[in-house]
Formats: sequence, C-alpha cells, structure tokens
Amino acid sequence: MNKPFDYGLADLRMPECAHDGVIVKVLAAALCHSDLDIIEGRRRHQVKFPNTVGHEFTGIIAEKGKGVTHVNIGDHVVCECIIWCGTCKQCRMGFTSLCDNFSELGTMEPGAFAQYTALPGRLVHPAEGLTIEEAALMEPAGNGLHAAETAGILPGDNVVIIGPGPIGILAMQFAASFSPAKLIMIGTRDSRLAFAKQLGATHIININKTNAAEAVMEITGGRGAERIINCATTDVSLETALRITGKNAVIVMEGLSGSGKPVPIMMDDFIVKNFSIVPASGVSTRQYMTAMEMVKNKKVNLTSLVSHKFPLEQMDEVLRTIREDRDKAMKILILPNGSV
Ligand SMILES: [Zn+2]
Ligand SMILES: [Zn+2]
Repeated sequence: MNKPFDYGLADLRMPECAHDGVIVKVLAAALCHSDLDIIEGRRRHQVKFPNTVGHEFTGIIAEKGKGVTHVNIGDHVVCECIIWCGTCKQCRMGFTSLCDNFSELGTMEPGAFAQYTALPGRLVHPAEGLTIEEAALMEPAGNGLHAAETAGILPGDNVVIIGPGPIGILAMQFAASFSPAKLIMIGTRDSRLAFAKQLGATHIININKTNAAEAVMEITGGRGAERIINCATTDVSLETALRITGKNAVIVMEGLSGSGKPVPIMMDDFIVKNFSIVPASGVSTRQYMTAMEMVKNKKVNLTSLVSHKFPLEQMDEVLRTIREDRDKAMKILILPNGSV
C-alpha cells in the first residue's frame, strides 16, 4: 500500500534477517477488519506508509539469525504481530501487548500480505499439532481468549456475547470453557447467529426482531447477564449491554466503535447493580500460548471460521467479498505462496 485506497502487487526486495530475527515464508494470512480500516483510510494515524498490510498469519521459517535457537529452518510457526521489547515494565509483568516500546507488523512494520516477512525470533512459536488454518487464526483466537478471561466467568454465570463476528464467535467458544449456565449470543444477522448456535451458544437473539433486554431477562429468570462480552463495533451494542446487566456484572469491551460519540450510563444503576466495564484488546504472549493449547486440545474450533481462501493476486476479490458478502465472509485467508 502506498496510501489508503492505493494498493497493488509489487516486487519488493527480500527482507533482511536480523541476528535475533527470522524470515517467515507466509503460508496463510487472514484479513482482519482492522486491515480494511487501513485500506479504506480509517486508521491513517497509526500506519506508516508505504507498507505491507497483514498481521494474522502463519508460515514456515525460511531463514533465521544466529541468535535464534528455539526454531529451525522449515518449522511451521505461529507468529505474533505485536513487536514487544521484553524489557519494559509491562513486558516484565507479562502484558506484552501493552509494551511501552510497542511496534506492530502490518501497521508500523511490513506485514504478512507478502511471500516473506521478517520479524524478531521471539515472536514465533512452533505450531506443532496445529493446522495451517488454525495457526493463521491464532491472533484473533487470542483476542477471543483475552475477552473471555477479562470477563472473569464463574461456573454457572449467565454469559452474553454481543456481536457474532469472528472475535465474538471466538470469545463465545472460550467463554464456554468456563462452564457458564447460559451462553447467549446477540446479533443482527440470522446466518451468523445460526453459526453461533452451531458452535455452542445456548440461546441466540436477533436484536432487529426481538427486544434483547426482555429476552435476556426471560432466559436468565430475571437475573440478567452476569458477564457480557461486547464484540460489536457500534454504540448501540454498549447501550444493549447496559440494559441486560445483572448485579455484580462485568461488561467487557472488545471492539472499537470509532464513532467518537459518548454513551450515557445511569449513575444510580451503576452503583446499585455494582457492575464494571473493562476493556480487552491485544494478545499477550501468554495468551497466544494458552489459546494454542486450547485449540490443539479441540476446546475451540477455528477451522470452521475460515470461509474463503484467495491467492494474493486476487486482493480485489478479497475486498469485494468482505464488503459485499458479509453474511458469508467470516475469515478470509490469503495465500501468498499458493494453495495450502
Ligand atoms: Zn486482527
Ligand atoms: Zn516492552
């Protein structure tokens, strides 16, 4: 990409491999909604141009520096996209996605919609036991895990997920592993709600057809939701979350709305119900490791999220699909080195 809306295939020089770095031959890179935001100019301030987009990916080690000893040439690896330093306070505390010296592949550094990409060796993990599809989706999986962990679900809680997009579906699957009593998905598209049901939702509510607050109260016997994970990117989703909140509830905010508009909160409701609103964004190294274990052990299904695969040459088709076929386009994989 040269700038928003200005992209194409280009022959670039092979990236150089640092002493502590690796070159990954990209086998599959998933399109994320934030990539679309970059392509359409909604994230201009955080992106260095010209650049190569793509931050959710997997591949094999094509080259490695002498300082990298935990992987070998030819190994299939899961790749983190946040370049964390390992020495700042947040990194030392394990919150690598909050690194003070943060950089990121696909926004600030060249990313994965390319045949080869360079990254620090510490960001790659052997993908043994994972398929290429699963390994490519480990970053969104980690986001789903982060949201479910942040909710602090206790067995028997009534859990609501708002927004059956890829992150919402993943957060729902991770939430299921905490044994909630009810696992309710709220959304606007019947096809995606049906998909959520297939993957473990106990109840689905189409907010365009049903009064969500009444439905949740009925399903939960008047208790309301104790854990709400909001993965929708609209202001109305937070309003919905506030209407279905039970006592001692936690509302986790996963997606950005980008609207810039405030959403009012009833002060007395907040205090009487004693609920909290907490954010969850980014994936720490520890969360990658946990998500990988859970996917390997079949606790979470990533494969069924893959709706399309395209070669890198068909980027126009990728963008047409995500814009015009949103019901069907769940996760689109781009294959820069041919079919996998
Ligand atoms: Zn992403
Ligand atoms: Zn750091």
